[in-house]
Amino acid sequence: MKQIQMVDLKSQYSRIKPEIDSAIQNVINNTSFINGASVQDFSSNLEKYLDVKHVIPCANGTDALQIALMALGLKPGDEVITSDFTFIATVEVVALLGLKLKFVDVDKNTFNLIPEEVEKAITPKTKAIVPVHMFGQGANMEAIMKIAKKHNIFVIEDTAQAIGGEYKCTDGKTKKLGTIGTIGCTSFFPSKNLGCFGDGGAIFTNNDELAIKLKQITNHGSKVKYYHDEIGVNSRLDSIQAAILNVKLKYLDEYILARQKAANFYDNAFKNNSKIKIPGRDKNSTHVFHQYTLQLEGINRDDLKEHLNNKGIPAMIYYPYPLHLQNAYKYLGYKKNDFPNTENLCNKVLSLPMHTELTNEQLQFITETVLEYANK
Ligand SMILES: *Cc1c(COP(=O)(O)O)cnc(C)c1O
Repeated sequence: MKQIQMVDLKSQYSRIKPEIDSAIQNVINNTSFINGASVQDFSSNLEKYLDVKHVIPCANGTDALQIALMALGLKPGDEVITSDFTFIATVEVVALLGLKLKFVDVDKNTFNLIPEEVEKAITPKTKAIVPVHMFGQGANMEAIMKIAKKHNIFVIEDTAQAIGGEYKCTDGKTKKLGTIGTIGCTSFFPSKNLGCFGDGGAIFTNNDELAIKLKQITNHGSKVKYYHDEIGVNSRLDSIQAAILNVKLKYLDEYILARQKAANFYDNAFKNNSKIKIPGRDKNSTHVFHQYTLQLEGINRDDLKEHLNNKGIPAMIYYPYPLHLQNAYKYLGYKKNDFPNTENLCNKVLSLPMHTELTNEQLQFITETVLEYANK
C-alpha cells in the first residue's frame, strides 16, 4: 500500500504532469511573470465556473480577506462578526485593520456560524459578517443574508476551504459558495481544494463598483500607473501560479467528487459507532470536504491520534484552541465558557487524511484502524 498522507499533492501532480509542466514552461518562455495572459485567463475561467461577474486574483487568501474589508470602507471601531472556530487568518485581518472583532459560537454538528448567535451579536456599530464555509460546507447563507439585509450590513464569505461548493436556496436556485454575499474570498494555498504551487488567492463579487475598488486596492490603490486614488497594497497572483490554476480548475469538479467519495467511505464505516460522530451535513449546501473531521466521544482523542500516527496514518487537529482564548486576542476580554460549542469541539475534533488520491485500500486500512481503537 502506498504511504498514506494527509494531503497527497505529488500523486495529484503526477496525473496531470505534462499539462502542468507545459503551462509553466509557457510562462517562462514568455517571461511574463507578473500580470501575464494566464492571470487574465484564469480570472475569466473562474468567473465562468463560479457564475460570478468579477474575480480579482491576489497573492493569498489572507490578503483577499483584508482587501475585501478595505474595499468596503470599514473604519477603525466598526464591528465585524465572525466565527470563533476558524483558521486565524479570518480574524487576523479584522484586527489588523483596527476593526472590532465579535466572535460567535458555531454549530456543533456543522462547525458553521449559528445565525441566531450572529443576530444576537449585532450592535449599531456592526458593519460586516464573515461566515466561514468550514471544512468545505456552506454556512447557513440564507439565514445570514436575511439578517444582513435586515440590519443593512455587508457579508464577506470566507470560501478558502470550500471552492466549488454549492448552496441551494429555498427558492430552488443554486449558487456557488463565495458568490452569495457582498464579497467572496478564497485561497489557492497548495493544500486547499483548488491549490497552486505556492501562494495565491482571489476575491469575487457581482458588484461592478466594488470590483473596480478591489482591483485598485490590490494594485497600490492605483487605476492609472503612478496615480494613487487611495491607500492600497501590493497583492498579485503570479502568472506561473495562474497558469497552474488554469489547468487544475478543469479538474476541480473531479477533485470534489473524489473527496466526496472518500468522505462517503468514512461515513459508512463510522456512522453506527456511538463513540465516533461523523461530520454533520447542512441540507442546503454540498460538502466539498476540505477536511473530514470527526468528533470523538469517550475516546482519548490525542491517544488515538498518536496510535494512528504509529500505524502510519497521519491525523490532524483542526483546530486545537479557540480563537477567543488565544493570547493575541486576550485584549478583547473574552473568557472561558463564552463559546461552549467551540471550546468543546477543540477538545474532540480529529481530521483524517482527505485528498483526491485516497485509494479504497488506504481508506479500508484507516477506518479499520480507527474502529479497532474505538472498540477496544
Ligand atoms: C487557508 C485559509 C485562509 C488563508 O489563506 P492563505 O492563502 O493561507 O492566506 C483563510 N481562511 C481560511 C478559513 C483558511 O482555511
